[in-house]
Amino acid sequence: MAVHTCPRCELRFERENEVADHLVSDHGADPDALRSRLRHDPPAEGKSAGGNPPAG
Ligand SMILES: [Zn+2]
Repeated sequence: MAVHTCPRCELRFERENEVADHLVSDHGADPDALRSRLRHDPPAEGKSAGGNPPAG
């Protein structure tokens, strides 16, 4: 059974959302920062803008 442990203390929760809520409520963490951290896939960034100069 997967359990989510609080990174700040040794409390355990069944859902990640509960951990985030606990962090914000008991540890005063930023909910926005937690949400992005709880995400599995990182934000796809770093797309090189195509801009080839005309060969001439
Ligand atoms: Zn905690």
